[in-house]
Amino acid sequence: MSSSQIAVIGAAMAGIIAARKLSAAGFNPQLFEKSRGSGGRLASKHSEMGRVNLGAQAFSADDPQFIQELHNWQQAGWVECLESDTRQWTGTPYMSALTRHLLGTIKTHFACEITSLDYVTDGWLLYDQHQQVHGPFQQLIVAIPAPQAQALLSHCAPKFAAHAGAVVMQPVWMVALGFKQPISTPDNLKRLNNSTIAEVIHTPLSAQHPMQSLMLRASHSWSTEHLEDQHEQVIAALTDALAEQLDSPMPVADSAFAHRWRYALGALEKPLTLLADAQRGLYIAGDWCGYGDVQSAWHSGQQAAQQVIDNQDTVFKPKQPC
Ligand SMILES: Cc1cc2nc3c(=O)[nH]c(=O)nc-3n(C[C@H](O)[C@H](O)[C@H](O)COP(=O)(O)OP(=O)(O)OC[C@H]3O[C@@H](n4cnc5c(N)ncnc54)[C@H](O)[C@@H]3O)c2cc1C
Repeated sequence: MSSSQIAVIGAAMAGIIAARKLSAAGFNPQLFEKSRGSGGRLASKHSEMGRVNLGAQAFSADDPQFIQELHNWQQAGWVECLESDTRQWTGTPYMSALTRHLLGTIKTHFACEITSLDYVTDGWLLYDQHQQVHGPFQQLIVAIPAPQAQALLSHCAPKFAAHAGAVVMQPVWMVALGFKQPISTPDNLKRLNNSTIAEVIHTPLSAQHPMQSLMLRASHSWSTEHLEDQHEQVIAALTDALAEQLDSPMPVADSAFAHRWRYALGALEKPLTLLADAQRGLYIAGDWCGYGDVQSAWHSGQQAAQQVIDNQDTVFKPKQPC
């Protein structure tokens, strides 16, 4: 067991995986998360329709290590393979349940946005939105989306900030529609030939879902063009685009909401195996270091934690403040 203090910023797939690996190795990491819950882009929302996944609805895996991990999670009842495509996985009963299970009892400061960092002689100081200071931490993993990483690192790690700044993140609008009366959904709903809607996910009525629901994911081009639209406008536009594709008229939804992801998808042009400054105990993780997907987030979290473990001795040397 080490006395080194370790902080991880971002309680979603990359950050939680890093923290889990560190905990398993006998460390006692602390997570800092700006939202009130875990999951990031794997978040789910409680609604009249039941729990609805707001970001990724499913994810794929082709890395044997990740697949092995998924089988472990499947045994624990945290994920399942989709019947329609067995290479696709989803959190069960919803995505954020997976990250909540993964987080377990790891110490997490929720609603705590880290707005600046300082590197001092005995480690990293983290300042939150209330100017409260946390630390010093001898090792720090930053596991947040590229635009936020760029802003946070620009002062203390400008080279890493420049890498993050090179990532172009695409926005995505999501719209959830709930129906109390059963509606008929064509089989080809998932593959709509539509420039506005990229994907439609149908969730049938069940004990957990008191309404039948359709989750519409707007295309990147439409989301970019309509980024600043009002939520009501987006609901109306996507509903109209869907209705155009259906053979029979669509009933008015009994419940609807929209969610905007300003930074949904994106990654470096060339994946980096690692962004690390072992001397100062700073490690960067997140899906954008790989291919911008869940598997990459998992991988980067694993790698960052491994680096922390491997570099334990390096970071106790006297250091220069930045
Ligand atoms: C609509 C949508 C569809 C998607 N579809 C797929 C798909 O089909 N397949 C797939 O593999 N992937 C998909 N993805 C991408 C996938 O969700 C991400 O690759 C993955 O979840 C990223 O995990 P992460 O931990 O790297 O980042 P995030 O999930 O973004 O987590 C970062 C966390 O850091 C927190 N944070 C940010 N800044 C701060 C700060 N300053 N202080 C404290 N906390 C902070 C955030 O609140 C967040 O919880 C989709 C994403 C979206 C939005």
